[in-house]
Amino acid sequence: MKILPINNLSNKNNIHKQYKYTLASITKPASCDTVCFKGINKTVAPKIIILLGAPNSGKGTCARQIAQKYSIPQISLGDVFRREIKYGTALGAEVKTYMESGGLVPDNIIIDVLTNRITQEDCKNGFILDGFPRTIPQAERFDEILKNIKGAELRIINLDVDKKILYKRSANRYICPECSRVYSLEKFDPKTSVCECGSKLIKRADDTPDVLTKRLENYEKQTMPLLNYYGNKVDYVGIHGIDVPAEETFARVDEKLG
Ligand SMILES: [Zn+2]
Repeated sequence: MKILPINNLSNKNNIHKQYKYTLASITKPASCDTVCFKGINKTVAPKIIILLGAPNSGKGTCARQIAQKYSIPQISLGDVFRREIKYGTALGAEVKTYMESGGLVPDNIIIDVLTNRITQEDCKNGFILDGFPRTIPQAERFDEILKNIKGAELRIINLDVDKKILYKRSANRYICPECSRVYSLEKFDPKTSVCECGSKLIKRADDTPDVLTKRLENYEKQTMPLLNYYGNKVDYVGIHGIDVPAEETFARVDEKLG
């Protein structure tokens, strides 16, 4: 018995895995834009989601949850860079040079690396970008890429979180130096605040209000203009006054996507 190809092998929660079909039940060939869902052939427009938001707004966590629900990969540039370096590609070698010298990776290389990534099999039904584009020139380059993605449905979500909450998240964040697990603690006690693995939690050296202020300044200067650039294409998800758990942020984002 032949099983339909699973478009997104990397996602454990891929909906296709819940249903098994033989190719005989498909009336037309299972091409790249045809997936089987509850026995119906359905052409899926690639869902491309850009998640914008300040540092600590919860983009990464939210992107992971969206990726799971919609069975599309989460693409963060840092991860893509590390992957290119790991596999020893020519691009990876270039990226490494810039990263090791502490310099910014130029847009041309970023675009090449990104293009490589989004043309892979698992991106056929779309993908979610977390941390890209960061600047207007990058957004302009990405618009060019989008023109080549047939039927792409672009969604842009901006996580609009009060600054006070961004600082509080930073202040409450502790990490395990052994297993890198991240904790949010209202009160830190050096004696009792330990990780599940038994190690004492620490504060990351670069997790300070000063560092956050600098990152926020950069974000406001370089990335916030994207909200004007994308204009009424942006859906805003606000977290104001009192902080909410990650699940609630995701629920609010998902409501916009739905
Ligand atoms: Zn640990």
